[in-house]
Amino acid sequence: MTHMYQQAPGAEELQTRGVDLRSDTVTRPSAAMRAAMLNAEVGDDVYGEDPTVRRLESRIAELAGMEAGLFLPSGTQSNLVALLSHCGRGDEYLVGQQAHTYKYEGGGAAVFGGIQPQPIEFEPDGTLAIDRLRAAIKPDDAHFAKTRLLCLENTVHGKVLPLSYLEEAAAFAREHRLAMHLDGARVFNAAVRLGVPLREITKHFDSVSICLSKGLGAPVGSVLAGSAEFIRRAHRWRKVAGGGMRQAGILAAAGLYALEHNIDRLAADHARAQRLAEGLARLPGVEIVEPPQTNMVFVRVPGMDHHELARRLRERGVIISPAPVLRLVTHLDVDDEGVERVIGAFGEAARGRET
Ligand SMILES: *Cc1c(COP(=O)(O)O)cnc(C)c1O
Repeated sequence: MTHMYQQAPGAEELQTRGVDLRSDTVTRPSAAMRAAMLNAEVGDDVYGEDPTVRRLESRIAELAGMEAGLFLPSGTQSNLVALLSHCGRGDEYLVGQQAHTYKYEGGGAAVFGGIQPQPIEFEPDGTLAIDRLRAAIKPDDAHFAKTRLLCLENTVHGKVLPLSYLEEAAAFAREHRLAMHLDGARVFNAAVRLGVPLREITKHFDSVSICLSKGLGAPVGSVLAGSAEFIRRAHRWRKVAGGGMRQAGILAAAGLYALEHNIDRLAADHARAQRLAEGLARLPGVEIVEPPQTNMVFVRVPGMDHHELARRLRERGVIISPAPVLRLVTHLDVDDEGVERVIGAFGEAARGRET
């Protein structure tokens, strides 16, 4: 009998595909993860009958120290459903100017919910300054939207929000009766970097959205966690958004596998990002924007066209997204050899050598 999962990419295929640093979303499920998916016990989750989805939702809720969880197809939908569940039409949320929930989700909260974002410039450490947040809260007056929610992101562009800041932000939110949502697409990277259990981060929030399809290596899915009452509202909005899935245990099984096997190993991605930054910093003409905290290295190669750089790297088996500041992301499918290959390729490409 042949098993689909035996066709998972092996080392050879990864080799021919090159080292792909565009994002930690590019990982493909391992053979063992595919086996878990193949063997998942399933049911119709819209009827609430999929045991694997149920297990994933309660496992995340438990890790986050929250009452309930909800499995959704993407992080974007998970954040959208969270915003719709916290805010109504004419309400507003405070959010980072470069935050995913403001800038990179198609304006979904405004499109579907009549919810207005109030973007605030990030501080260099990825926090939103409390005095700026305070100044942005609207008075109770018919001229203004009602400020309801503070939305943070962690990690934010690879940076970890300090626990002391989260405490401060939560006190501020309580003082102003704002709910707190965490876009925790990569919150496990933050927890691993800080060496704390997830709930030490999430305890400051009313809700958290966590991606399974980034560094955790699952092919699809995010989980939203919060109070039982919040998740009941979110469950309704998920259906409205078209996110009710049927035998979704096939996907949830990958998420459960990821929680079991792929959290602690994020430390290896962080170490490789560190090694990558050190190696690149030694190359003439290559600048590291700041030391990496988790799995992202931001790099500048001044005076070189980034499309040309990307093309030269590609010829050397290294895949990046061209941008004035390059974001290089380490993940499950980048090993030590891959990191050395990237450093070597940058050395050649940035020196302007012709192939
Ligand atoms: C990827 C990401 C999301 C959205 O996840 P998708 O599954 O791609 O929709 C949300 N927030 C942050 C910070 C992300 O990196």
